[in-house]
Amino acid sequence: MTIPTHLAVDLAIFLLLMQIHSVDAGYADLALILGSNLIDMDHFYSDPIYHPRRNPFTTHRVHRAWLLVIFFSVISILIRPLMFLGIGLLAHLSLDYLYIRREKL
Ligand SMILES: [Zn+2]
Repeated sequence: MTIPTHLAVDLAIFLLLMQIHSVDAGYADLALILGSNLIDMDHFYSDPIYHPRRNPFTTHRVHRAWLLVIFFSVISILIRPLMFLGIGLLAHLSLDYLYIRREKL
């Protein structure tokens, strides 16, 4: 999935969660949910760096450890200061998964 799509979905999730008063989302949370897309930095270890028809779950180092990332995300969601990081990581992996299912990679 492309970075603009990831950022748009993260922004939509953030705006939705902002409506919940008990969550009390702030700018730090916005930075965390948008920053969760830095997981795509593992593209720099791939050759070529970007390839539109590549399965990230088999080629990119951090994406390959998706089970560990999901575990870290769930733990992060339970810790309030890191909650939006966990949500962002789960959203990122979900979008990447939807992408490989749609493209049949
Ligand atoms: Zn990704």
